[in-house]
Amino acid sequence: MTSKPTICATPSTAQEDLFLGIDVGGTNVKLGLIDASGVMRSKHALATPDLVTPERVFDASVAFADRELSSPEYCKFKLSGIGLAVPGVLDSREAVLREVVNLPQWKGKRLREILRKSRDLPNVVVNDANSAAYAEHALRSLGNKSLALVTLGTGIGCGLVMNGSPYGGDHGCAGELGHIAIRFGKEALPCTCGKMGHLEAYAGSKGVVRQLHSLAKTTNNSEIASLLTTDIVTPRDIAARAQNGCELCNIVIDQTARYLGQAIGQLAQVIDPTVVLLGGAMTFGGSQSKVGQKFLATVRNTIISTTLEEVGSHLQVEFASLGNDAGVIGAAKVAQQVIAS
Ligand SMILES: [Zn+2]
Repeated sequence: MTSKPTICATPSTAQEDLFLGIDVGGTNVKLGLIDASGVMRSKHALATPDLVTPERVFDASVAFADRELSSPEYCKFKLSGIGLAVPGVLDSREAVLREVVNLPQWKGKRLREILRKSRDLPNVVVNDANSAAYAEHALRSLGNKSLALVTLGTGIGCGLVMNGSPYGGDHGCAGELGHIAIRFGKEALPCTCGKMGHLEAYAGSKGVVRQLHSLAKTTNNSEIASLLTTDIVTPRDIAARAQNGCELCNIVIDQTARYLGQAIGQLAQVIDPTVVLLGGAMTFGGSQSKVGQKFLATVRNTIISTTLEEVGSHLQVEFASLGNDAGVIGAAKVAQQVIAS
């Protein structure tokens, strides 16, 4: 365990709570100190490959918190709890990762116990998608209502907050929206998981590029033909070209929105949430662009047209707000909630 430094030269008797959020990814570890009102007072990032094991990540994370808390501006604060967000299939009861890509030395370890050895404070471990969803939920002061945060990128994930609490399911797999089947039979495309017709095969970033390839074969669009033969095409390229009026790119984005709307409609029909948010790297410009706004409108309209009136018409469908900070803020907020309860 790292030794606890002197927090402040003149500590206050009425110290306010501060929570450390740790969001572990395959590339880096995001850290943040969040106060009781949800404001992130400080943040930092560590390179995951340099740290490798949970023990080293937790020691480095606690050292960051101690460094910050030793400065005069933190005199009124004390570290009250730690929230850890991790990718993969989390057994939340045991705080053990059952399946995880890119973090082999984390699999099967009892993370709460290891974290407590770095600093003996109350701690929680949550799935990173649910952590991000919880941060967005707290931002909107949704209380006991439910929210789904759909993350669009190479894969399609979904964090869930049900009745005000993060929900991971009995096997840590709740919200695996990318693996909802939207096409069946001979024409269903293969998914990365090995099954057929899943949403990710159509609306994950590779699926979106595949749609463009398929459409390009049916037309004589020379601009798209040259793009596909000379460049590595990404959804960002497709969004940029759509913004400049490329018809095929606009069609691809529209199709993607309808695939997503179909799957999100199924999710909404089952759990009836108040809010569904779209986030991640593949929002086609988001709220800042006309292409992004049209994408969102098509997702929303597809949900409305495929669900019961009482579900689709009341559902708020928006872009997420917190971006890359959502996971770390959510982890700290979950720690705060658990400690308070
Ligand atoms: Zn799949």
